[in-house]
Amino acid sequence: MVARLLTTHLNSTKQKYIKMDKVVRRVQESGRFVVALETIATMPSSFLYSQIVPYLKEEYPSGFKFLFLNSSPVNNNVLQHIVETVDLCDIPYEFVMVITNQESVKQFFDSKGIKAIFGKVPAEFPIGDHTPIFNNHDKLCPYPWAGIHVEPQGYVKPCCDFHGTYLKHNGTLLNASRDTFEQMINSSDMKLIREQFKQGISPEGCKKNCLEAPKGKSTRFTHAKHKLKNIYGEINWEGDGQIKFLNGHFSNLCNLGCVICEPLASSILAVEELKNSTYSNVKQDPKYKQLQINLNTLNENSIVWRELDKHLSSIRNFEILGGEPLLNKNILRLIERLIESGHSKNCVFQITSNGTQFPDICNQLHNFKQVFFHFSIDNTGSRFEYERYLSKWEEVLENLNKFNALAKQHNHIKLHFAIAVSILNAYYLPELLEHLSQYKYETHYFGDVNKPSALSLNNLTPQAKDVLITKLTKFIDKFPKLDFVLNLVKNCNLVDGKDFCEFISNKDSLRNLNLVDTHKEICDLMGYTTFINQGETKWPLVG
Ligand code: SF4
Repeated sequence: MVARLLTTHLNSTKQKYIKMDKVVRRVQESGRFVVALETIATMPSSFLYSQIVPYLKEEYPSGFKFLFLNSSPVNNNVLQHIVETVDLCDIPYEFVMVITNQESVKQFFDSKGIKAIFGKVPAEFPIGDHTPIFNNHDKLCPYPWAGIHVEPQGYVKPCCDFHGTYLKHNGTLLNASRDTFEQMINSSDMKLIREQFKQGISPEGCKKNCLEAPKGKSTRFTHAKHKLKNIYGEINWEGDGQIKFLNGHFSNLCNLGCVICEPLASSILAVEELKNSTYSNVKQDPKYKQLQINLNTLNENSIVWRELDKHLSSIRNFEILGGEPLLNKNILRLIERLIESGHSKNCVFQITSNGTQFPDICNQLHNFKQVFFHFSIDNTGSRFEYERYLSKWEEVLENLNKFNALAKQHNHIKLHFAIAVSILNAYYLPELLEHLSQYKYETHYFGDVNKPSALSLNNLTPQAKDVLITKLTKFIDKFPKLDFVLNLVKNCNLVDGKDFCEFISNKDSLRNLNLVDTHKEICDLMGYTTFINQGETKWPLVG
């Protein structure tokens, strides 16, 4: 193999060793994009993307071409990689041209709708010495190459859906409060996960939620290329990981105690749990210690924020979860720093919020390349207030209107609604979707609540199942996504309602609430109305 490594850009007129015919020379001398397929085939897989990026424009002048040359047989993988990279960069095919002396190459691009000319092409190109990994999006997951996910207590994973374990380095648990990003992304565990992907072995933590998820189910893995679009082309599949993506909770600080949430994700719930403490001195309770850890591990003195400063210009894709991240001063400072440094213009910023906050900095979010707000809104009015305990629906409405105005004003600010579906809200979903239709939002999507299992749609009384099927079926034409919920209901286990009633009864007495006041229909169907009226424990109470 000719070992002429391409180190400077191909449009440099000093690269005299490339023999060119007139067309090629004209293109090259005009400073336009030209690259040989033979070069692409022997450089790292991120090479082509890195070459294309400086030429990307909102609009191309007429006659502009991304020119690809070829004078010897090349593997189909290379051809497919070119098409995928052109697509990833959103380049209209009319601005792409191939000149080749290979009939099969011409046929391939013709079949894709990309102009390919059969012609005389220079025979000598700069050649690298790599065996690139191409066309990998259905085999390799980019997350273990691209970044890390941080849990509220500082533990790390390749992504939030990675199941079962936290990352270690040579057996020692890693923690974002003391370990550097470099130590985490190139830890022995992360290297092993990348190697397993390359060898076609499913990493253990990826099985449950992604690689062994039911066929056809959309998962983080199936969406990865789309979610990481702004960094995907740069991923160094052949080499080590590089932090370009950051995902995490960073704290469980929250102002709400949602019924479907857990202490690890809500400081309010963690405190509430201590109300049930059996310890005379609550500070002796291990749960108290855990609460302190969750709240304080990633405080402002933690290394994670210094690491963020250090890597600020290379991280370009953020996915921030809660607690409530818009309450977290460190997150607000991060947003400020990104905007002040001007780096926000290169960043995709996604944040999940309960809708109760609208800090001033939100008015500056248009300074990001793209912003995705995911609002956790599962019901309306007093039912929302019950489910999202301590919230005020009127305040949420006010904030949603402000976010809606931002989305209307700036096309690159997008709103989404994340709807956690449980026994509490399934009956009222049509009303919720009706309400949401007033906002300018991209999508709404459902997630099924599994924990606490007492609230899961897996566990319904026969009466609840029948009524839910009847009600949801009535609205399926208007809101086709309800099909997801309808299927959960149709496939549920039939139960007597005891777990549901006991769970709600505990919550209600702790919070001095009564679910019947807000969710009467569901209370009747699950036996809770009878349960609290009769105070008896003979099951079933419904029917
Ligand atoms: S396969 Fe799924 S769980 Fe594994 S790293 Fe990718 S997105 Fe995460």
